Amino acid sequence: MLEKITDPREVRRWEGGFPVGHRYTPGVAGAAFFAALRDRGVFLGSRCEACSYTYVPARLFCERCFAELAADTEVGPGGMLRSFTIGFTDLEGDELDEPVTVGLVQLEGADAVLLHRLVDTGDEPLEIGERVEAVLRPEGERTGSIHDVAGFRVMNDDAS
Ligand SMILES: [Zn+2]
Repeated sequence: MLEKITDPREVRRWEGGFPVGHRYTPGVAGAAFFAALRDRGVFLGSRCEACSYTYVPARLFCERCFAELAADTEVGPGGMLRSFTIGFTDLEGDELDEPVTVGLVQLEGADAVLLHRLVDTGDEPLEIGERVEAVLRPEGERTGSIHDVAGFRVMNDDAS
């Protein structure tokens, strides 16, 4: 029976749950991205020459012009912090033991940004536009997931 609700005050609800399973597959380009990350410790993107735009992670097609793309453009591991936020609570609203900082990182050579943790943030306040670099898990410990990247840390200008 289909029931069309036109007045939101008529919506009914009932308590309970039902089992739903799911499996995420990254697709052809996503699999290439994760394999490159695991095996070579590099970030693979896809370049659309027509749009002058480099995606990361890699894509099979351009989201702007639908051109076929290849997972063949290495970007990073350095980049620029484009935005960030600090989380103090978990998804349930419970306070975290330690705040978690996440940022949008635009890797060198990429136009798209990656969302990931910021690590070793230190005492200095973060600033948008700062140079950051990927911190990868050691070779042999990487499994081909986004967790192969421990996070991004601010590059220390003094060390260069
Ligand atoms: Zn394009």
